Amino acid sequence: MANFYCEYCGKKYSNVKSLTGAPCYRHPNGANKGKHKLYEGSEKTKYTCKYCGTLYPSLISMTGAPCYRHPNGANKGRHSPAL
Ligand SMILES: [Zn+2]
Ligand SMILES: [Zn+2]
Repeated sequence: MANFYCEYCGKKYSNVKSLTGAPCYRHPNGANKGKHKLYEGSEKTKYTCKYCGTLYPSLISMTGAPCYRHPNGANKGRHSPAL
C-alpha cells in the first residue's frame, strides 16, 4: 500500500483524504493554521531541498530544519522537498 506524506511536516498517512483533512503543525502560515499538504513526489531514500540542495534521509528531518536559501530570507522558513 502506498504512503502519502505532508510536504510541510513529513507526517505519513495511508490516504490523501485524512492527510488533507488534518491540521499541520508546520504549516507556512503558522502551526495548525492550515491543513497538511500532499507531497506529490515519490518516496525516496534521500530527499533534496528545492531551495538549497541539502540532502535529508526523510521528509520529517528536512522540514524540521531552517533553510538558509529560503525565498523569504535566510532561515526564514524550512527546507522544502523537490519532487
Ligand atoms: Zn503537515
Ligand atoms: Zn533548503
